[in-house]
Amino acid sequence: MKKYKHEIEDDRCKGCGLCMTVCPKNVLEISEKVNSKGYFPVCQARPEDCIKCSLCCIMCPDVAISICEIEEKEETVA
Ligand code: SF4
Ligand code: SF4
Repeated sequence: MKKYKHEIEDDRCKGCGLCMTVCPKNVLEISEKVNSKGYFPVCQARPEDCIKCSLCCIMCPDVAISICEIEEKEETVA
């Protein structure tokens, strides 16, 4: 089964909150840490609820969020 990783590039985010309005799972919140541009970026406050639907990526005007596939390594049982 394929696995996906949700990533927010803090320094691209201007904290506009548009992504938060489209998330069906209420995963995103504005963080309390300021980024290099002086904005408060969004963060995944509830990552376990993320269904990787990519609506937030599509909505972001600054392309600050991405979802990428991660390679799953074969687990070896010792
Ligand atoms: S991928 Fe979907 S569920 Fe996950 S944070 Fe973005 S909008 Fe919310
Ligand atoms: S839509 Fe993009 S720029 Fe706006 S808060 Fe979300 S990640 Fe940041």
